[in-house]
Amino acid sequence: VIDTHCHLYLEKFTDDIDEVLDRAEEAGVTDICMPAITFDSLEQMEALPTHNVNLHDMVGLHPCDVEEVPDHLESTLQRYAQQERFVAIGETGLDYYWSTDHVEAQKQSLHIHCEVAKAVDKPIVLHNRDSTQDVLDIIDQHQDGSLTGVWHCFNGSVEEGKRAIDLGLHLGIGGILTFKNAGVDKTVAELPLNVMILETDAPYLAPSPNRGKRNEPSFVQYTAQKLAEVKGKDISVIKQQTSKQARQLFNLI
Ligand SMILES: [Zn+2]
Repeated sequence: VIDTHCHLYLEKFTDDIDEVLDRAEEAGVTDICMPAITFDSLEQMEALPTHNVNLHDMVGLHPCDVEEVPDHLESTLQRYAQQERFVAIGETGLDYYWSTDHVEAQKQSLHIHCEVAKAVDKPIVLHNRDSTQDVLDIIDQHQDGSLTGVWHCFNGSVEEGKRAIDLGLHLGIGGILTFKNAGVDKTVAELPLNVMILETDAPYLAPSPNRGKRNEPSFVQYTAQKLAEVKGKDISVIKQQTSKQARQLFNLI
């Protein structure tokens, strides 16, 4: 199984990174994809130990870290993005939950990420909080048939999910699927499995029964289990299919 969205390089994992990776391996995790938050994330990723679990790096600037668009964002992103090391561009997107003070800068940054993703032919990883319409409108503007990507931590409505799929996006299914009363299970039940990939967003958003704790890649099994229930399939089918889709999207060997 593949955890397609995990911030394994953050300080919360520094003390027990080897145990975290061992538990991931025991839980059947073969690959972990790591979206960047800032350009500092890239060095932190490099400092991680090698392990049987394959780690994949991504490059981007999180919308919550965009107060103004940095000088040379496009050229810096482009320089990194074309390196083989990076499997995707992100995370980027819009976040109106924490603040709407920097909406224009966030949008400009998202536009730049879309341009770079298309230029290097790699998928984009989208963060979206209270900003679905604007995120999808911007993807729509850039979609010429060549843009691929994922709406990470999907929590939209059925209509929004369908629009995202029509725009060529995958849906990243995370711990919120297991939360009682979140309603994501009902939405996900009505959307096609063949565009879904699994993620943790660790250290955040731990799935039930570990809700509120530090999240980690091994917990992806709980989200896989819930998705199996929602889709009426065996968990092995869910793991296999979502992994295959993640490998195709991020071009993992
Ligand atoms: Zn994230």
